[in-house]
Amino acid sequence: MAEYIVAHDVGTSGSKAVLVDTDGRVWGKAFAPYRVYYPRADWAEQQPEDWWSAVSSTTRQLLERTAVKPGDIACVVYSTQMLGIIPMDSAGEPLRPAIIWLDNRACDQACRVMRRFAGPRIFATVAGATLCGKDGIPKLMWLREEEPDTYGKMASFLDVDGYLIHRSTGEMVMDWSGASVFVGLDFKKRPWLHDIFLRYIGIDEGKFPRLVRSIDRVGGLTKEAASQCGLLEGTPVIAGAGDAPCAAVGSGAVGEGDGHVYLGTSGWVGVVTSRMPTGTCGVAAVHSADPDKAFLFAETETAGACLQWIADQFYRAEQRDPQVSNVFALMDEKVAEVTPGSDYLIFTPWLYGERAPVDDCYVRSTFLNLSASHTREHLLRAVYEGVAYNIRWIVEIVEDKFHFPLPVLRVIGGGARSEPWMRILADVTHKRVETVADPQEAGAVGAALVAAVGLGVYPDFESLKRVVKVDRTVEPDAANAATYDFLFQSYKEVYGNLKGLYSRLNQRRSAEASLSKAKS
Ligand code: ADP
Repeated sequence: MAEYIVAHDVGTSGSKAVLVDTDGRVWGKAFAPYRVYYPRADWAEQQPEDWWSAVSSTTRQLLERTAVKPGDIACVVYSTQMLGIIPMDSAGEPLRPAIIWLDNRACDQACRVMRRFAGPRIFATVAGATLCGKDGIPKLMWLREEEPDTYGKMASFLDVDGYLIHRSTGEMVMDWSGASVFVGLDFKKRPWLHDIFLRYIGIDEGKFPRLVRSIDRVGGLTKEAASQCGLLEGTPVIAGAGDAPCAAVGSGAVGEGDGHVYLGTSGWVGVVTSRMPTGTCGVAAVHSADPDKAFLFAETETAGACLQWIADQFYRAEQRDPQVSNVFALMDEKVAEVTPGSDYLIFTPWLYGERAPVDDCYVRSTFLNLSASHTREHLLRAVYEGVAYNIRWIVEIVEDKFHFPLPVLRVIGGGARSEPWMRILADVTHKRVETVADPQEAGAVGAALVAAVGLGVYPDFESLKRVVKVDRTVEPDAANAATYDFLFQSYKEVYGNLKGLYSRLNQRRSAEASLSKAKS
């Protein structure tokens, strides 16, 4: 049997490809960036063709770099950003640019649906989470109301995974994890929910693609797709799943109640479970990559993005310096020089509003208690610590409100490469932190392992626990506990005390931005 899997993690800023063997070992990596377009305030779109170009070019690069032969590739699989909408015509072409997860255009539609379903709390109990303007059903309603021509011509809509499967095989499908963010978690067992929901909203069910499991073989590469990727026609394509469910697999936290923390551009705390949790506090429940389990998903909008922000605003000269090959590594060195607690400086990492631990699109970041003695490095450390406080708050919600104890934090994503950040996270949360090999590629590795289950290499997801190995652990240092407990309590109070103010400021700010956009 062919030994390697080509797995793509198709994110927001670019696509990471890995060549993985069936034991989850990474043999080659490639990355291709692409653009996000912001045609209006709150809108975010991408060109589906850009995803495919990234996928096909990185596949070719993997083969060139590793000298692995096309005949050695057992399958292709995708882990993708979730919640995108690509309306497809009857000839299988996109009718407009993709409306991606970051796009918040459908707030009005989200509020209308929840009002009709007896308010957000009851809606969350039935559907698994409250809705916001970034969610799938409100976006489909937006399309029907604001672009009726496109909606009318739409034979089917696809998400990002579905689009790439379509480009690869010609099939129109959506995997269960992707489908669950549109029609609720329990759509398999409670089709009535799905029916009533869609009938009320007036979305034509015929526009939903065929549903498949993450582990299903959807088809083989078409001749055209194979030649663009440098692979053989007919190479199997496994459905894969959304990025968060795949990352859970790549973290190895795949057993009942196992949790992981993702620290990439965004961040989350996720738990895989056969319970069917329903969401509050911005926590959502979607389908996991394991067809028998759900995935509790508490997402913070900006984790590594906060480090990127401080790198771009405060470490510009260093980024231009040819001697500095990785600004994050340099920032890590600087952070380690500052005393834990950043001399009582607190940063709240809510640069783009937040989903969890507080579900609030108006909240923003604050440096609290900034004093003349604070240096640029205090601000830097405060940013690392602020994200850690936010994660602790989410972990508390997952443990106390959802009753999933998380004695150890298994961390993946680019942030897991940072030793001081992992030390801070362990100290702030009082928990052991574990990281895996290639943490920045955990999503793509997870997709590859999903495919390995689909190919029958492993009998089930539980057996993947032995495949993903921990390569570093950090134990919490009790000496820092009192400082961090004190600062964490203050951190939580920032939100309670300032939320009204954030709301007033940012409602006015968005109204002004919409007005000036409309004028131009
Ligand atoms: P995504 O795929 O969500 O865009 P990644 O998993 O690639 O994100 O992680 C990117 C983030 O990882 C960066 O924003 C940065 O915060 C963090 N990162 C990467 N390398 C390091 C490092 N050496 N030290 C600290 N953070 C790092």
